[in-house]
Amino acid sequence: MHTPSPAPGTGSVSTSILRVALPVPRRRLFDYLPPQRPEQSLRPGMRLLVPFGRGRRIGILLGTAATSELPRQRLRRVLAPLDKTPLLDTAQLRLLEWGSRYYQYPIGEVVFGALPALLRTNAAPLPEAEYWRITAAPPAARRLSPRMRELLETLRRTPEGLDTARLEGRGRRTLEALARRGLARRGAAPLGTPRQAVPRPGPRLNQAQRTVVNTLLAELGRPRPRRFLLEGITGSGKTEVYLRVVEEVARRGRQALVLLPEIALTPQQLKHFQERLGVSVVLLHSGLTERTWLCNWRAARGGEATVILGTRSAVWAPLRNPGVIIVDEEHDSSYKQQQGFRYRARDVAVMRARHQRVPVILGTATPSLESAHNSLRRRYQTLTLPRRVGGARLPEMRLLDMRGARLQGAFTAPLLHAIGKNLERGQQTLIFRNRRGFAPILLCHGCGWRALCPDCELHMTYHKRLGRLLCHRCDRWQSWQGRCPQPKCGGDCLELGHGTERLEETLANAFPGARLVRIDRDTTRGRGSLEKLLGEAHSDKTDILIGTQMLAKGHHFPRLTLVAIVDADHGFYSLDFRALEHMAQLITQVSGRAGRAREPGLVLLQTHQPRHPLLGTLLAEGYGAFAAAALNERRAAGLPPYRRWALLGVESPRRADTMDFLTRARRLPELASLEKLKCFGPHNAPIPRRQGRYRGQLLLQSRSSRLVPGALEAWLQRLEELPRPRDLRWALDVDPLEIL
Ligand code: ADP
Ligand code: ZN
Ligand code: ZN
Repeated sequence: MHTPSPAPGTGSVSTSILRVALPVPRRRLFDYLPPQRPEQSLRPGMRLLVPFGRGRRIGILLGTAATSELPRQRLRRVLAPLDKTPLLDTAQLRLLEWGSRYYQYPIGEVVFGALPALLRTNAAPLPEAEYWRITAAPPAARRLSPRMRELLETLRRTPEGLDTARLEGRGRRTLEALARRGLARRGAAPLGTPRQAVPRPGPRLNQAQRTVVNTLLAELGRPRPRRFLLEGITGSGKTEVYLRVVEEVARRGRQALVLLPEIALTPQQLKHFQERLGVSVVLLHSGLTERTWLCNWRAARGGEATVILGTRSAVWAPLRNPGVIIVDEEHDSSYKQQQGFRYRARDVAVMRARHQRVPVILGTATPSLESAHNSLRRRYQTLTLPRRVGGARLPEMRLLDMRGARLQGAFTAPLLHAIGKNLERGQQTLIFRNRRGFAPILLCHGCGWRALCPDCELHMTYHKRLGRLLCHRCDRWQSWQGRCPQPKCGGDCLELGHGTERLEETLANAFPGARLVRIDRDTTRGRGSLEKLLGEAHSDKTDILIGTQMLAKGHHFPRLTLVAIVDADHGFYSLDFRALEHMAQLITQVSGRAGRAREPGLVLLQTHQPRHPLLGTLLAEGYGAFAAAALNERRAAGLPPYRRWALLGVESPRRADTMDFLTRARRLPELASLEKLKCFGPHNAPIPRRQGRYRGQLLLQSRSSRLVPGALEAWLQRLEELPRPRDLRWALDVDPLEIL
């Protein structure tokens, strides 16, 4: 098990003061004296039961100190240790402490967030792993309950042994009943060998893949491994590269942490990794039950799991023997946690790799501008896969000028013409629009009334089939009667803009014979409906696919040869400084769907800005050239990655309270004395009202490319102590995704 060395300079725990993290929103540790009769040595990373206020709490020992700010007689004693060995090892504690300091989030909440929920509130020790295996198939004549048969089937599918903690309810008893019949057997030993099944050989690597894989393999085990940006266009075989690296990591008895942007992609990848490598793979993502999370977390910690596949929170997973960290689609904004502890998992992964001296691989077809910058500055070693596997060509991209064009719905005549021709050839078309619903805006032609969300003051989207208005920000809805609801008006309303539902209607009218499938959050709400629609999309039956970004990545439609981006301009009008970057990434990703098979693809982009230089660069020279040009704009504008930002967000039911708190925060001397920072505000947040709360912010800009979040510590501690209404909330966001 883990034997972390005690925190440096601590000496004997029994005489010193214990520094304990508690799950409370305070930016500090709490000091305690060791228990009356310490029966065992206490080590950082163990849970302790401590008195807190009038009650008791579970805390985590982080270290020791010779002195405390409090006089010794006021310190209270730890009641009892809860674990025999540390739950979190020193490497993990170090990473968590870094996370707390960098993102300026209370240490106790950060550390507790890294524990499975079942260990946070429950004082029971981490249950021992117990694995059950099948011994024999039941003779057909044996009378077994359906529950027993079901479990036997599960055991058969789990040759490495079924972890009992994974079973809900009466599973244990059923297993024991099976054991009495000689059908199952308990194994104390965990999975034994790392190989669980016969691995399946992969395809022969092409030249580019081989070069990349060799470079990466040479890096394994180096004392100071480099960081890699793996730039490979869609379909260039990045996943294959990951598999080869992980295979070697597993062969050396080490673990691979693989981060993916979306839960939806994880089961698919799980199967892929399991079948190809034949090693034990566990998932860590928010869709798991608390029990499964605990099991998988334990398997990662104990080293029984060789591959840990997960979404952003998996970056904090315990690893007994890490060998490599991989972040797929590193540019994806889902790696940023948007509430509570607002970390960015991509950046945490890079830091973790450095702490643990393992290589990190950031893979993407469209690097974030931060990573592109790091690659240009040679902080990341760039590896490229410039061609698609099997020689499929990248599609041709063409702009369609919308200025002055006659439109049928949202479509120009040349676009409709191209769709018609593609239909005649029996090929598939993808219509992309990142906006669901029928019309994003309803406006009364009689009196000018607009349908706004009463909580967010945002336009409510008209969903025709549902007969509802829906706020896409807060999900509030109301039914729509078809007329202006203003008293004394009742006029006709104009439906402005085109969501996917409306595009579908237009296309159904324009091409009556065509078979359409729309995939967005509205059509995939029911259980299994996404799988069903994707099945239809893959079949020969579907002529035209209409979808939002749900269709932008990960899917391979062999007959798809035409992609139409109905509105390529979205990024030009947004105030969000990342909008252009995201638009370019989306255009590139969506285009990657076209012509992945034999037929060459065509991408048509409708725009009112055909002369926009960045759009031109993207189309003519590709994403890399776009990124370089966009970085120049960022530098001129003092935006990340050239300047770092942090954002203090405040919300409360009363605007005056929100603004008053921000003003007081700004005036605190701890902030004014920071010469490395420029402060803007207070002003309204980009969404000034949400769910009935008024939101405002202060923006802090560093004067260099380094933000020293530690500098904010004194200020935040004062903020914690500022008197404020109970219903006012504030939060700091370091490296926020959006600043306006
Ligand atoms: P990416 O992750 O870069 O989009 P994938 O790794 O998913 O690309 O590869 C695309 C397809 O090509 C997959 O079906 C994969 O199995 C296949 N593939 C990858 N490398 C090779 C290779 N060297 N030879 C043949 N097929 C390959
Ligand atoms: Zn009206
Ligand atoms: Zn709303």
